[in-house]
Amino acid sequence: MPNFTLEDSVFEEAAERFPTPFHLYDELGIRENARLLNRAFAWCEDFREYFAVKALPNPAILRILKEEGCGLDCSSATELTLAKVCGFQGDEIILSANAMPPEEFSQARELGAFINLDDLTDVETLRTHGGIPETVCLRYNPGGAFTIGNTIMGNPGEAKYGMTEPQLREALAALKAGGAKAFGLHAFLSSNTTDEHYYPTLAGNLFALGKTLAGETGLRFAFADLSGGVGIPYRPEEKKTDIMAVGEGVRKAYREIFPQGGVGVKTELGRWMTGPCGWLVTRAMHEKRIYRNYIGVDASAVNLMRPAMYGAYHHITVCGKRNAQEDHLYDITGSLCENNDKFAIQRPLPEIRLGDLLVIHDTGAHGSSMGYNYNGRLRGAEVLYTADGDYKLIRRAEKPQDYFATLDMDPAAKELGVR
Ligand SMILES: *Cc1c(COP(=O)(O)O)cnc(C)c1O
Repeated sequence: MPNFTLEDSVFEEAAERFPTPFHLYDELGIRENARLLNRAFAWCEDFREYFAVKALPNPAILRILKEEGCGLDCSSATELTLAKVCGFQGDEIILSANAMPPEEFSQARELGAFINLDDLTDVETLRTHGGIPETVCLRYNPGGAFTIGNTIMGNPGEAKYGMTEPQLREALAALKAGGAKAFGLHAFLSSNTTDEHYYPTLAGNLFALGKTLAGETGLRFAFADLSGGVGIPYRPEEKKTDIMAVGEGVRKAYREIFPQGGVGVKTELGRWMTGPCGWLVTRAMHEKRIYRNYIGVDASAVNLMRPAMYGAYHHITVCGKRNAQEDHLYDITGSLCENNDKFAIQRPLPEIRLGDLLVIHDTGAHGSSMGYNYNGRLRGAEVLYTADGDYKLIRRAEKPQDYFATLDMDPAAKELGVR
């Protein structure tokens, strides 16, 4: 079930200090997740979590994760810049490529980051943009369907990421000719899965392939990067991923293939790390009764796109009414001119009054960061509920000037306040 560790009073106090809508993040919860993950992989002398920056690209959060020993997985120049200003460097950063501008390789090389190549053609790009480092990571795509037992976990054959096995061989030969000494292997084959066998199965495949390719090429297999994909329970009936069991499963796969150790393990979890530690706090502004009952709130899909984009479920509670009967049926909507701007459809909830605070759960990953500006709607603030119980603004809400900023060449720029 979703994360209910914070009392309603926390959301209410935050809403007294900051105008809704805002995302609130729980520092303690994020630290606890990082510590739990590190415990689950403590058996591996060379383990590191590289938090997927795109999930929650806020420096305040990234610094907390740095204190907990995490690195960062970046996917763009701006994310590399964020990593740098937060004090990450060298082997604390991975740049995961896919169809990216070549300059981003140069930028990553200047930081000394690991580079995770997506395609055979990336080898030449890397040679001419920053040069080939001693250790390079390669994204693997096994094609077909990825199954565990009889369950299809993902369809890599339809995914744009990674290289085929023959391409890995060709890339490694070219990298070796360019001076590389070692390689890592990375694959992302399933998204948001709470199945405890996902990482162990993936790890077993990468360990075996890494050993084979090392034997063939004479390059050292340095690490397996299990990427992201470990899921969280968005729905009340879903269960948490047992991360200790995941770590133990990966350990077994590791010991079978590398009984002497010597190979590293990396993860790039985003959702699992921070997803349950964020909540979108919004206020009921309108009630409308037509063929259905609608509650219009002051947040919209610009603050949280997952329901509109994927039909994703996010649990919703009403502050002060946690134990009330859920005897009303509502569609909870934002204000966009787009009928899929709904946080919930036909959801049983307690009776909602105008002014009630609604808490949308599990928005700590791929929430605010996926936001956009459709309809000229502005993205909201981000608030950190600190370990000592304080409320800290870690991103202000957007202002109209932010929306107009890219029009600074326009004749109306002065009136728009951007020149
Ligand atoms: C998005 C992404 C992740 C994080 O995925 P989660 O589902 O948040 O765990 C990790 N690695 C790469 C390369 C990604 O693109």
